[in-house]
Amino acid sequence: MQNIIQLLPDALANQIAAGEVIQRPASVVKELLDNSLDAHSTQVQVVIKDIGKTLIQVIDNGVGMSEIDARMSLEKHATSKIQKADDLFNIQTMGFRGEALPSMVAVAQVEIITRTAETELGTRLVVEGSKVKLQEPVAASVGTTISVKNLFFNVPARRNFLKSGAIETRHIIEEFQYAALSRPDIAFNLYQNEQETYCLPAAKLANRIIHLFGETYRKHLIPCEAAADVLRISGYIGNPAYAKKTRGEQFFFVNNRFIKSAYLNHAIKHAFEDLIPKQTSPFYVLFIEIDPKRIDINVHPTKTEIKFDDEKMVYAMLLSAVKKALSQHGGMTFDFDTNSNVDPLGLQVPSKLPSYTTMPRDRSYTAFKQLEGPKVSTQDWEKLYARITPESELSTQQPVLPLSEFTALASPQSPHLMTPDTALEEDTQQLPAVATSPLSQTGSEGAVIKMQLHGRYILTSIKSGLLLIDQHAAHERILYEKYLKQLQNHAGNSQQLLFPEQIHLSVADLELIEAYQPVLKTIGFAIEVFGNNSIVIAGYPVEATQQNPQQLVEHMLEQIKWNQSNLSIPREENAVRSLAKHAAIQPGKKLEKMELDSLVDQLFACNNPNHTPSGKNIWTIISLEELAKRFKD
Ligand code: ADP
Ligand code: MG
Repeated sequence: MQNIIQLLPDALANQIAAGEVIQRPASVVKELLDNSLDAHSTQVQVVIKDIGKTLIQVIDNGVGMSEIDARMSLEKHATSKIQKADDLFNIQTMGFRGEALPSMVAVAQVEIITRTAETELGTRLVVEGSKVKLQEPVAASVGTTISVKNLFFNVPARRNFLKSGAIETRHIIEEFQYAALSRPDIAFNLYQNEQETYCLPAAKLANRIIHLFGETYRKHLIPCEAAADVLRISGYIGNPAYAKKTRGEQFFFVNNRFIKSAYLNHAIKHAFEDLIPKQTSPFYVLFIEIDPKRIDINVHPTKTEIKFDDEKMVYAMLLSAVKKALSQHGGMTFDFDTNSNVDPLGLQVPSKLPSYTTMPRDRSYTAFKQLEGPKVSTQDWEKLYARITPESELSTQQPVLPLSEFTALASPQSPHLMTPDTALEEDTQQLPAVATSPLSQTGSEGAVIKMQLHGRYILTSIKSGLLLIDQHAAHERILYEKYLKQLQNHAGNSQQLLFPEQIHLSVADLELIEAYQPVLKTIGFAIEVFGNNSIVIAGYPVEATQQNPQQLVEHMLEQIKWNQSNLSIPREENAVRSLAKHAAIQPGKKLEKMELDSLVDQLFACNNPNHTPSGKNIWTIISLEELAKRFKD
C-alpha cells in the first residue's frame, strides 16, 4: 500500500498552531496587552477597528525591542521571559511561552514598530502569513507599537466564524478590563472605530473600578485585605445589596494575572451566603499575591486557569477575609468621599443633570393593572385550553391538559390524563359541550376557586386533580407574547416618568443599551444616552411600572448578557424575553382574587400557555391518582 502520511506544509502547520492561541480578536488584544505589561509600560493604548477584523493595535511606552529581538520575537518559542525549566516555577511575567507573536503573524498582516532607549532609531517590521516582508530603520519613540491587520485573512473559515459584532466587542472589552484592573498604576486608553471608549488615568484600584464600571460603584465597594506568611489578599468586594444575577463582574487576579476559578468563586459566595439572594453573585475585584513557586500557571494555553499547591488554604483565607470585610462593614457602604479626602482624579464632579431629581414613584399600581391583555372573561379560560394542540410549541414535553377537564365534573369518566392524541380527539368531540358547561357551572364544587400558595403558585381544582400554576412563569409568558405583538405592530405602551431617572453604567453596558435602543423603544422604553457613562430613563413599559426602573434596566441588561452568551437568539427576541422575565410579577407578590382570575385567564389566552419562553413548565398537575396513592395505607 502506498504511504499516505505527509508532513503538513509550514504555512498550514503554523495556522493550526496559531488557532490554539489566537481564537478571536480578543485573543490578540490579550496577548498584546500582556506583552506591553511585561515590557514595563506606564501608558498603553488599544485601537480597534471593525471589531478587530480590520485592525487591532497596541501602543506602549515600554522597554521596546532591539532590531534583532524584534525579528527573534516572531520565532516559535522565542521568549525573553524564561530560560530554563526551573524558571517555569518562578514566573513573574504574563507571557513565557513565546507563542503569541508567531501565532499572530501566521494568521494576520502584522506591523511592529519598536525602539529601545539605547538606540536613536527604531525598527519597523512588516510580516504577513509568517513571512517577513520588510524590515527597516524608522524614527520612533521608545516603546512598541504592534498593529495586527486583517485578522484571519488567510483562514476564511475562521474569519467567517466570528460571532456577531456585539459578542466579539464584549470579549475585547473584557480583555481590556482584565488588564486595566490588574494594573491600575498603568494608564490605559481604548479606541473603537475612532471613538475613545475608555480613558483610564493611572489611579488607585478603587478609582480604576469606578472608571471602568461607573459612578454607582463608588458607594458599593468594601475593601478586603488579609495577609499571612504565604499569601496576601487585597481588593474590593461589592456591597451585598448590589449583587447581580450573572457572573460578569467578578475578577480574581493571582500575581496580577486574571484567572477564572469556580473553586475560589465558591469561597466568596460562601462568605456572602444569607446576605444575598440565591442565584445572584457578588461583585469583587480581588488580588491574591502568592509565591510563584506555589502555583502552576502552565495549565491552559490561554492561561486563565491556575493550580495552587494548597488550594484549600487559599479557599479558607479568602473565605475568612471576605467574611471579615463584610462584618466590619456590617452592611454599611464604604464611603470614599470621607475615607479618602483627596480626589486626585476629580471624580466627584456633580451630575450634569441637576434638573432631574429622583423622587419616590407611585408604586400603587396593582398587578391587576399590569395584567391588562387580551380580554377574556374570567370563567372562559377553560375553553381556551381547547386551543392547545399537540402541535403547539414544546407541547409534547408535558401532557396536554385535555378539554374534558373542564367539561364539568358531571362526566362519568374516571379522572385521567390523556395523551396529546386522545386529547385532540376529545377536544373535537366535546367542543360543543364547552359552551354550555364551563367550570363555573359546577357552582360550589370549588373548581373555580383559585388560591395563592406561598405567594408563588396558583392552585385550583380540576377534574383530574390539582392544577398548580407558577405565577411568575405565567406572567412572564403573558408579557412575552404581549411584547412580541407590540414589536410586530411597533406599538409599545410607554409610561412617562414624572422624574426621569439617571443611572450610571459601565461602558460595556452602555454599548449594549445603544445596540438595543431601537428594540427597547418599540417595546415602551424611553432611554437617552448621556455623557459621563450614564443614561436617563424617561419612560418605560406600562406593564413594568411595578418595578423600579433602574433595577428593571439593570436586571434586563444582565439577562440580555446572559442570553447573549448562552443562547443564540436574535436581538429582538432577547430584549423581549429579558423584559418579560424581569417585568413579570415576582414570586412572593400577593395577588387578589381578581388578579388571580385575570392572570389565569390571560395565561390560557396565550399561544403557548405551557412553557415560558425559555422552556420552563408554567403549570403542573397532581392527579387524583397520585393523591390517592399518597393516602393509601
Ligand atoms: P512571550 O510573551 O510568551 O515571551 P510573545 O510571542 O508574546 O511571547 O513575545 C515574544 C517576545 O517578544 C517577548 O518575550 C518579548 O521579549 C518580545 N516582545 C513582545 N511584545 C513586546 C513589547 N510590547 N515590548 C517589548 N518586547 C516585546
Ligand atoms: Mg506574550
